[in-house]
Amino acid sequence: MGTLAYIAIGSNLVNPINQVLTAFNEIGMMPKTNLVKKSSCYSSPPLGYKDQPDFINAVVLIETELSPRELLFELQMIEHFHKRERSFPNAPRTIDLDILLYGDTRINSPELTIPHPRMHERAFVIFPLQEIDGNITIPLIGDIAKIAKELDPDIARRITL
Ligand code: AMP
Repeated sequence: MGTLAYIAIGSNLVNPINQVLTAFNEIGMMPKTNLVKKSSCYSSPPLGYKDQPDFINAVVLIETELSPRELLFELQMIEHFHKRERSFPNAPRTIDLDILLYGDTRINSPELTIPHPRMHERAFVIFPLQEIDGNITIPLIGDIAKIAKELDPDIARRITL
């Protein structure tokens, strides 16, 4: 039995819904990893730099025998397949993959912070995460239902495909 981990997916370029659906498949094909559950897709306006298209976001639950660093490496390979270009912070991107939680592990290294430090402020992460597991507790932050209540429901809207 591997570790349960949650991954956030976001895209706002080149047919974002398609990018997210493709990422579901690619995440499921990573070595030593099973895709357990995926959320619906959500639509949200960009943070920071506003002059760019809305984002499509989703969260997946995986079970993995990859270490956190190996997992980050595999996710970066997927980002690379989607030809993500890192131009400036909060720039438009074809795909962005973040590790939200990795079991109850806490990591604070230059390349990896888990739990993801800004996840609880982001409706487009919290709402799909809550859809997958409404009883989850985020280490150091608290219960997801309580966190979700603090967030504006209009910021991340669930879309039906
Ligand atoms: P960004 O361009 O915002 O996707 O940031 C990518 C960088 O964030 C990567 O080079 C990672 O080393 C770093 N990083 C730190 N914590 C995490 C995390 N929990 N998940 C994914 N990337 C992370």
